[in-house]
Amino acid sequence: MKIDHFETDALMDVAARPPLVFVEGRGSWLADHAGRRYLDFVQGWAVNSLGHCPPEITMALATQAQRLISPSPAFFNDAALALAHRLAELSGLPQVFLASSGAEANEGAIKLARKWGSLHKGGAHEIVTFADGFHGRTLATMSASGKAGWDRLFEPKVPGFPKARLNDIDSVRALIGPGTVAVMLEPIQGEAGVVPATASFMRALRALCDEQGLLLILDEVQTGIGRTGRLFAFEHAGVVPDVLTLGKGLGGGVPLAALLAGRQAACFAHGDQGGTYCGNPLMAAVGSAVLEVVAQPRFLAGVIERGDHLQQHLLRLSATHGLAGERGGGLLRALDLGRPIGAAVVEAARQLLPEGLLLNSPRPNLLRFMPRLNVTFEEIDRMAGQLDALLRQIR
Ligand SMILES: *Cc1c(COP(=O)(O)O)cnc(C)c1O
Repeated sequence: MKIDHFETDALMDVAARPPLVFVEGRGSWLADHAGRRYLDFVQGWAVNSLGHCPPEITMALATQAQRLISPSPAFFNDAALALAHRLAELSGLPQVFLASSGAEANEGAIKLARKWGSLHKGGAHEIVTFADGFHGRTLATMSASGKAGWDRLFEPKVPGFPKARLNDIDSVRALIGPGTVAVMLEPIQGEAGVVPATASFMRALRALCDEQGLLLILDEVQTGIGRTGRLFAFEHAGVVPDVLTLGKGLGGGVPLAALLAGRQAACFAHGDQGGTYCGNPLMAAVGSAVLEVVAQPRFLAGVIERGDHLQQHLLRLSATHGLAGERGGGLLRALDLGRPIGAAVVEAARQLLPEGLLLNSPRPNLLRFMPRLNVTFEEIDRMAGQLDALLRQIR
């Protein structure tokens, strides 16, 4: 495809992309090659916790880039030590492995559980996962995912990931046997369409894992680092996992992820886990800069206020247009359109005049909202006003 003077042919065609090329971003706004502006409620897929090119991240990158970029993971570096220490302190999980993507962190969690099973549970290796769950795009994390349409892709799958149903503790119990080592889930299923696990289900899972001697693995790649108004979504239910994965918002836009584990679960020996970029100081410095802002109680209270404000707008839109309601937590929310017009709304919103609006439709009947955590109230009002006008037209 030719877009202005850009030629797209050299990039593998792995996704349907609209005919525009982004060249700049600031805060909640993106600009394309033609200078057209877009209000961004996707934010790199819930990645840019502080928006596009925030000064905190630009500064952290510039400063660290002039000090040290990559001494190799075979040595300690000060930026990785600082980030690991801070994550351990904030989460209560004392052991941290730094990675570059959510899938890599989850792959590490799966390996950790299998290692733990080989040490403590006679080789048990099965991890109970969930229908419609999403854990990434490596072979093992695809196998752990319950995404519709993936069940026959890239066969044979990695075995050992039986699927239970979210919020159905009996469906979990029914899958537990001598081969089971862990249960793994997202506190809010993001890609499935923002489907929360209830607090009572989370507590029942914690109790079941304790009773059966299983690891509870939480994938907070999407829900972690303030997205739901708490630093970690597990805080809402008052449960603490044995293993936790983080990604997306932790890097605020740069490739950074983390695998965290309790003392008893952290059983990797030398050589079990690693990676060339794992713990590189350039990304670690950004992670610390993001946490310095997001982990402040006042900032997290602001996420709740903004989330409530967005929720009020979505409820009003639902009532006005006869839609099927909204759900989610903090600034990870979905509007149920009640019929399969999600893609049409996303398309129309992007083409809005004079400025576009970027939304996401993870399911045919859904819109998902994942703005920057410091989105302004005016930006939320503006988005809701534009969406109201669009829904009027489409009706
Ligand atoms: C995005 C996501 C992943 C995968 O993260 P990548 O950085 O794309 O590998 C894993 N789990 C959840 C819950 C996610 O939302």
